[in-house]
Amino acid sequence: MSNVHELSFLKEKIQELKDLGVYRKLPILESASEAEVILNGKRVINLSSNNYLGFANHPRLKKAAIEAVEKYGVGSGAVRTIIGNMDLHEEMERLLAEFKREEAVMTFQSGFNCNAGTIQAITEKGDVIISDELNHASIIDGARLSRADKTVYKHSDMNHLEAVLKECRAKYRNILIITDGVFSMDGDIAPLPDIVELAEKYSAMTYVDDAHGSGVLGESGRGTVDHFHLHGRVDFSIGTLSKAIGVIGGYVAGSETMREWLSHRGRPLLFSTSLPPAAVGSIIEAVKLLMSTTEYTDRLWDNARFFKEKISRLGFNIGNSETPITPVIIGDEAKTMEFSRRLFENGVFVSGIVFPTVPKGLGRVRCMVTAGHTKEQLERAVEVFKLVGEEMRIL
Ligand SMILES: *Cc1c(COP(=O)(O)O)cnc(C)c1O
Repeated sequence: MSNVHELSFLKEKIQELKDLGVYRKLPILESASEAEVILNGKRVINLSSNNYLGFANHPRLKKAAIEAVEKYGVGSGAVRTIIGNMDLHEEMERLLAEFKREEAVMTFQSGFNCNAGTIQAITEKGDVIISDELNHASIIDGARLSRADKTVYKHSDMNHLEAVLKECRAKYRNILIITDGVFSMDGDIAPLPDIVELAEKYSAMTYVDDAHGSGVLGESGRGTVDHFHLHGRVDFSIGTLSKAIGVIGGYVAGSETMREWLSHRGRPLLFSTSLPPAAVGSIIEAVKLLMSTTEYTDRLWDNARFFKEKISRLGFNIGNSETPITPVIIGDEAKTMEFSRRLFENGVFVSGIVFPTVPKGLGRVRCMVTAGHTKEQLERAVEVFKLVGEEMRIL
């Protein structure tokens, strides 16, 4: 008998990963998350962060974080329902609600936590969750924590969604339709106006996870709901504070009733310590910045268009992206990883993404263009794509 504490059952699984060629070490970043970084000891152009607006190392956000630390300390000391709900948290939520043009906002410690806590709190046995097949892992996990039944519709397929709604309507009390606002692997936008119309037709609730739409789409980054002018028609609008906003955290925007209920039954809020003051202070500053200027989102979109145009003109397949997320689809899994490795050798970091994160045969490097890149950096990156693409006979 082997000793269970040697974790040989895990060692075997790790060996399987190595045999499959998908074993990897965590890359080590030795600088702030910016357009150019030091990664694993090498200076490279960074095309892989979600720091869309360059806020993660913005001087005004850093100053706000330091000021919050000086007044409130480094930790909030408790969960929000006991004594971890500072006036700073309340100010952040009021400001976010104003920014999102919704009645109220409830924040969580991360976008992941927000889905884990919210979906189970708003559904129960006798309800059904209808989810897009390409929804994010945190939605899948969040739905698993709910006692409602679950079913999936084909990616952005409205005929299929309607068929599922028809079948479910008589069988269940509440129906919750969940979709990503922007799909993280392909950069396509959910057909939200059609989803909302179907939801209204079948009296279903809508839940949009706008992690990649927050700070990117809509007026000054107000998100996918704002982009489609659907205010008041989406019940739960989820955003993350960890991507474009540059800090950490997640939130639900919607009605005052939603906020009241989550303050009683949002489990991560009841059982996990609230966001630290530094994070909250810098989030407030980020939202104020976005409310005062569209400069950051304008630059993001300008850079995204510039890069996408140049990459597709070279002959790369960038799929159906409608946002700054730019997948460069290589296909074969091993070839994708090799492509990513050679880009890195030539000074560009773009993470390779392969099965099971994306379907087999659709391996890609996913380029994330940000407002922080200069045109010169993007041009240099495009040159490297051309070089490696030709070297590997992809172009
Ligand atoms: C990144 C992401 C999350 C998780 O957000 P964090 O704040 O990083 O925890 C949730 N949903 C979607 C769709 C995401 O892309």
